[in-house]
Amino acid sequence: MILPIVAYGDPVLKRKAKEISQDYPNLEGLLENMFETMYNAYGVGLAAPQIGLPIRLFLVDTTPFSEDENFTEEEKNELKDFKRVFINATILEEEGDEWAFNEGCLSIPDVREDVFRQPVITIEYYDENFKKHTEKFNGLIARVIQHEYDHIEGILFTDKLSSFKKRLIKGKLNNISKGKINVDYRMRFPDQKKKR
Ligand SMILES: [Zn+2]
Repeated sequence: MILPIVAYGDPVLKRKAKEISQDYPNLEGLLENMFETMYNAYGVGLAAPQIGLPIRLFLVDTTPFSEDENFTEEEKNELKDFKRVFINATILEEEGDEWAFNEGCLSIPDVREDVFRQPVITIEYYDENFKKHTEKFNGLIARVIQHEYDHIEGILFTDKLSSFKKRLIKGKLNNISKGKINVDYRMRFPDQKKKR
C-alpha cells in the first residue's frame, strides 16, 4: 500500500524519533508499505517520520544511483542492489573531510541543495530480523544513510544550509507546507486548507 508522504512543515519531521522493540505491531507489513511508497516516489531512502511515524526506522535502496553516469563502474556496482533496513540505528563515528553533494528529499519536493557531510560513517543498527550489526560505510551510501538518519533525529537537509540559502528557499518551503506544489506521488500537507 502506498502511504502519503508527510510534507515539510509537519511537526513529526522535527521530532527525535523513539526506538522500537522486536514485537512492534505488523513490522513486516509496515516495511513492505514503506518500500512500496519509496519506490513509487523514485526515492533512494525513506524514514518512518516521513510517513508520520516518530520511530527509529528507515530504509535505503541506492539502486537508482547505479545508472547515473557520473559515477565510476566500481561505484555503480556498489550502489546496485544496496538495499537495507535500519532499525534503532546509532551513528557511532563520522570521519574524513566534508564533501558536498546535491541532496533532495521526498518531503521537500523540487528543492535540491548542496549539503556538506563527512564521507565515512560507523553505524550500529538492527536489521528487519532484529539482528544487530555494526558496519562502516562510505561515499554515496554513507551519504544516503546520513540523510535518513537525520530524519530520525528530527533534522532535515534544509536545516544544514547557510542562513542565506535558507532565506532564498523560504517561500518555496512555505508553499510546500500549504500543498501549493505539483508532485506526482501521494503527500500529506500540514498547512493545506481543507477542501469543502
Ligand atoms: Zn529526506
